[in-house]
Amino acid sequence: MCDLALATLLAEAFSDDGAVTPPIVQSSLFAFDSYESFAARMAGQSDAPIYTRVQNPTVAEFERLMARAEGVEAAVGFASGMAAISSVLLAFLRPGDRVACVENVYPDAFKFFELVARPFGIEVSYHPAAAFSDPDLLDGVKLAYLESPTSLLFAVMDLAKVAAHAKRHGTLTVIDNSWATPVLQRPAEAGIDIVLHSASKYISGHSDVVAGVVCGSAANMQAIRDLTLPLLGGKLAPFEAFLLVRGLRSLTARMRQHGETAALFVKRLGTLPCVRAIHAPDLGGRSGLLSVEFDDSVDIPALCDGLRHFRIGVSWGGYESLVMPAKAALAAGGAVNAARHFGHPEGLVRLSLGLEDAEDLWADFASAVSLAGGPG
Ligand SMILES: *Cc1c(COP(=O)(O)O)cnc(C)c1O
Repeated sequence: MCDLALATLLAEAFSDDGAVTPPIVQSSLFAFDSYESFAARMAGQSDAPIYTRVQNPTVAEFERLMARAEGVEAAVGFASGMAAISSVLLAFLRPGDRVACVENVYPDAFKFFELVARPFGIEVSYHPAAAFSDPDLLDGVKLAYLESPTSLLFAVMDLAKVAAHAKRHGTLTVIDNSWATPVLQRPAEAGIDIVLHSASKYISGHSDVVAGVVCGSAANMQAIRDLTLPLLGGKLAPFEAFLLVRGLRSLTARMRQHGETAALFVKRLGTLPCVRAIHAPDLGGRSGLLSVEFDDSVDIPALCDGLRHFRIGVSWGGYESLVMPAKAALAAGGAVNAARHFGHPEGLVRLSLGLEDAEDLWADFASAVSLAGGPG
């Protein structure tokens, strides 16, 4: 696990009174005390905040910390992970462009490609994570949209290799790093151009925030700040930014705990005869999000209902442990359904292992599996 080098930044005083957490600057606008200073700001001669849709000091503090954590020049906060994803894609894609997207991408990113990008004339193709090692895959591709590990099935790719191929083809690389967080993986170090997060997950860490963030070069972040941040308007709010700064303080410690619990689950799940496959990558550390594929002996609804410490729900990355059965996602309505499109197995259950006692969680899970019919 890498040290985020946030300690120094976090220790910097935010104000003269020695406060160790940033103030929540709950102001929509920032007024100027002379015509000259206002005109200078409008002419771009200063970067003083002017309006919270584009700039806010509390949000800027979160952005500064995230840029440092991911090892890049700049970051832009957003109202949600999807606001971050759509604002990146619409900032850099134009009709006629081609996108290569990894298979088993986050379901709403898949929907964005199918229901927004495609009707706007952007061509999208989906490829297994391993296919991105092919030096020719990105020939003629404007943007590669990556997750490593991918959603639900957690396939990983060699990011340094993909970044090198992309550079040769002039392809912009974008990765959703929500699973790993900068604690487990810093894709910019491997040469990936843009790193984004659903900060609703591990960065917040407490299931009380919906937010997103995009990290990358100053030029790429400025392109977003000039175009899609102000014009789509999906900005991060000051209070959410404050909660995210709080989340960053405990991120490394939380990821360590999630990872230890995940390691215990992977080891013990491997001993259950009803387990067909475990999808749980180890990047030199694990997150708490993994999936298990059960054989037909396990009644999935009974398994979910037999759990006492785990709740049933979407999202992940908070204190509380959750299960998300693929069976329910497969049965969801709508013509565009990632689970059906990518053929997720009926017996697949995603686990978000929280911060509760690992032995309590395992005892609960093992007992629910055996109640659900699995030889346990
Ligand atoms: C949740 C999630 C998103 C979407 O983020 P929101 O904050 O819910 O908009 C994007 N990517 C991944 C991998 C996610 O799990």
